[in-house]
Amino acid sequence: MGKPTGFLERQRLSEACEPVQARLKHYREFVATLNDEQTRVQSSRCMDCGTPFCNNACPLNNIVPDWNDLVYRGHWEQALKVLHSTNNFPDFTGRVCPAICEEACVLNINDESVGIKSIEHAIADKGWQMGWIVPQPASVRTGRKVAVVGSGPSGLAAAQQLARAGHEVTVFEKNDRPGGLLVYGIPNFKLDKSLIERRVGQMEAEGVVFRTRVIVGSGSLPAGVASDAVERVSAEEIRREFDAVVLAAGSETPRELPIPGRELRGVYAALEFLIPQNRQIGGGKANPINAKGKHVVVIGGGDTGSDCVGTSYRHRAASVTQLELLPRPPEQENKATTWPYWPLRLRTSSSHLEGETQRLFSIATREFIGDQGALKAIRTVDLDWKDGKMSEIAGSERTYPADLVFLAMGFVGPAADLLESFGVDKDARGNVRATTDGPGGYATNVAGVFAAGDARRGQSLVVWAIREGRQCAREVDAFLMRSSSLPR
Ligand SMILES: Cc1cc2nc3c(=O)[nH]c(=O)nc-3n(C[C@H](O)[C@H](O)[C@H](O)COP(=O)(O)OP(=O)(O)OC[C@H]3O[C@@H](n4cnc5c(N)ncnc54)[C@H](O)[C@@H]3O)c2cc1C
Ligand code: SF4
Repeated sequence: MGKPTGFLERQRLSEACEPVQARLKHYREFVATLNDEQTRVQSSRCMDCGTPFCNNACPLNNIVPDWNDLVYRGHWEQALKVLHSTNNFPDFTGRVCPAICEEACVLNINDESVGIKSIEHAIADKGWQMGWIVPQPASVRTGRKVAVVGSGPSGLAAAQQLARAGHEVTVFEKNDRPGGLLVYGIPNFKLDKSLIERRVGQMEAEGVVFRTRVIVGSGSLPAGVASDAVERVSAEEIRREFDAVVLAAGSETPRELPIPGRELRGVYAALEFLIPQNRQIGGGKANPINAKGKHVVVIGGGDTGSDCVGTSYRHRAASVTQLELLPRPPEQENKATTWPYWPLRLRTSSSHLEGETQRLFSIATREFIGDQGALKAIRTVDLDWKDGKMSEIAGSERTYPADLVFLAMGFVGPAADLLESFGVDKDARGNVRATTDGPGGYATNVAGVFAAGDARRGQSLVVWAIREGRQCAREVDAFLMRSSSLPR
């Protein structure tokens, strides 16, 4: 514990954001990393609790009190080492993690939690600035070959761990750049894409081979799923060439809203808007969907919906409305009943605050109304929720003007064809069936084929994907070598 009285003396300082009008003019990151002194002061608020709930709540089990103490004492490089001991990519989580740890922070019971995520962000950025983050190639090569299908955070984490264990790792990615949703999904204003390129460079220097624009399996994809593939490699070829396979293909099939008017021009899956935007910023052609001067309706209230809101404001949309099926959560959680678990409260993202976002809850869309094939409005109905069940309120139908609708209602699973081509079993939700616990964790029903990340657990978070990639790598290593010294 750096400073025993720190939490009594110092207030939480959140990272500064560029003012809204300035940041709406560009797509760059707008959150400033805390400086060294600010980070030191913030780390002094950590109480080094006997039972650090933050460490348990973080899916990576980041050893938060230890790196807080090290930062407070000025041992930044050591803090980075401790952070990297559980997390391959703190530069990503320090920016996009919802900071589950902070909800579990003991200081959060009667004060504001320690700013754990901002400290993680600062440690990772300093690590790169100081040149402390360098490739760590394995000293001994095993001669065993592993294929990783998909280069999102789970595939990247699995590949890095396996390469460091001495295996020959090839990552197959159907899109033109590695990174999965980190690159083609999460907007640049939340996560700069040079950060992912930097990590990919580190991994290449560690021996990982990236084969982009290569689709694995039958090559068939559900509607609305992006692909730049110019080459196909079958599951049989992968099985012949590699000793083990990790399926880290994400959960890309968007949830549909099959109501009248779905076919109208102006109704799109969220990623049909967000991916071309990231491509445009990365030097590709202009986003074919332009929200300038349009009335935008986003259906769905999670991260994806919020990213559509922020991107629409940068396009200069005339209005942005976001609809959520569930009831409006309370402004403040009841700490006594939720701590240290994930509390139910209204989540307002930085994107919501970039304009006058109309957020409507307990509402369902019943029809897209068009004129000559183009969307003009939506028809909605209010919902009544009782005991977790919803019913429509008679006579509550309303119409809202809409030129663009983005469907951000989540994803229903990985492309079924990929799983079928490897012959792996699916669970009831259509994800790869594999447990996570103990020996045999992450293994599918097919010997030598493993699964991690959204492809296994369903649509989730970057921090969970990294955890699964790391843990899966350990199981793959144990499968190949009979034991593993990789951390779980
Ligand atoms: C718009 C959006 C915003 C989000 N924002 C956040 C956020 O702020 N914070 C957060 O924690 N989480 C966020 N998430 C969730 C997070 O991005 C995912 O949980 C995470 O990326 C999952 O990682 P993954 O490696 O399992 O899969 P993905 O990142 O989906 O990567 C899977 C990769 O596999 C490739 N692939 C699929 N099939 C094949 C095949 N047959 N052959 C070759 N390659 C294939 C895909 O092209 C893709 O690149 C967001 C998700 C979306 C959609
Ligand atoms: S990865 Fe997320 S949950 Fe874990 S310590 Fe960092 S911010 Fe907290």
